[in-house]
Amino acid sequence: MANINHHYLKLQAGYLFPEISRRITQFSEANPDAALIRMGIGDVTEPMPAACVEAMQKALAEQGHRETFKGYGPEQGYPWLREKIAEHDYAARGCAIEADEVFISDGSKCDTGNILDILTASSDSSGRGNVIAVQDPVYPVYVDTNVMAGNTGHPDENGEYEGLVYLRASRENGFVAPLPDGPVDVAYLCFPNNPTGSVATRETLKQWVEHARRHNTLLLFDAAYEAFITDPHVPHSIYEIEGAREVAIEFRSFSKNAGFTGTRCAFTIVPRDLMGATPDGTRIDLHRLWLRRQSTKFNGASYIVQRGAEAVYTDEGRQQIAGLIRFYLENARLIREALKEQGLEVYGGVNAPYVWIRAPEGEGSWDFFDRLLNEAHIVGTPGSGFGRSGEGYFRLSAFNSRDNVEEALRRISRMKLAVS
Ligand code: PLP
Repeated sequence: MANINHHYLKLQAGYLFPEISRRITQFSEANPDAALIRMGIGDVTEPMPAACVEAMQKALAEQGHRETFKGYGPEQGYPWLREKIAEHDYAARGCAIEADEVFISDGSKCDTGNILDILTASSDSSGRGNVIAVQDPVYPVYVDTNVMAGNTGHPDENGEYEGLVYLRASRENGFVAPLPDGPVDVAYLCFPNNPTGSVATRETLKQWVEHARRHNTLLLFDAAYEAFITDPHVPHSIYEIEGAREVAIEFRSFSKNAGFTGTRCAFTIVPRDLMGATPDGTRIDLHRLWLRRQSTKFNGASYIVQRGAEAVYTDEGRQQIAGLIRFYLENARLIREALKEQGLEVYGGVNAPYVWIRAPEGEGSWDFFDRLLNEAHIVGTPGSGFGRSGEGYFRLSAFNSRDNVEEALRRISRMKLAVS
């Protein structure tokens, strides 16, 4: 009989989304005529930029002709896309990233999970597992993929896994979690942050890079929401910080800027300067390992999709994306303003598509979820679903049609939310 990866058994049954669905079903059965507005979802709602669609149509047509047909492409992505990314996302911001340090993939979700393939599992017999830090609240993929890889023990009564270092983000630190007290081997950073919408200043990132260089920490920097940065002082890439090439991997995605959530395209930067250690302490560059991993386990993102992603960097593509980002950020602004008017404490939503709301005094995340559902027929995401520090908070997503946002806010304006 096949022996299973028993670490999967430590995973907690997905609690957040099944529980949300259960409460929605219960509510809808009792209120069959209520028109629900879903504001909990992290998926985009607007169509893809026309420039991307046209580029993909053209690429698809090429597949119908012998002269232009493309079969397997390079596993790490076509050079023309890697070069555009290096030029527009990095060189243009003063970051020295070479095209061959850009690895195209079909999503940041898989890359942030797959990266663990090239790091030692804590359960490995060498006894040299990694000490891994995550921010709390956290994008759950970072935690669950570490559980699957055998990097944690069992969860405690709060759902926190033994072996992980949790860095607490709170209103006191502006939802930017502090540096770890001691050395850690790997730290996940996500800015702009899902779920809190917070961003890291240049100073904060400098501190992280210095800390990482001092303690040989590998930073896994997830910048999936980079396109939403509006503050000119906020870095768009960790590589804007000197020395980051030696300590950081960066994940970027076309999902949230250009609507590739269903089409799938992303990229990961693994600089050649980045080193890891073998059990005997020999330094090995991670670029080589990631290239090996990708060319063995991945056969490249689709040619058609990569042509679509390339169009992101055309003048039309850039203008259309700017329009999409403006649209979602205006939704976020409207949500922020309406909730503030209700006397609530509101965070995020300025450099990110997520608005992070403090539930009224005395209410927990789920109490607030129930109240919005029952009184306004609005579905959001309870902050506690992202970790212990999310308790008492609530996430509303700006990914929605303007009509839905306006209707939701009309309903909210009729509620008595804050205790005055
Ligand atoms: N990283 C973060 C922080 C996210 O919130 C998401 C999606 O919601 C992703 C990565 C996934 O990106 P992709 O669609 O490229 O897999």
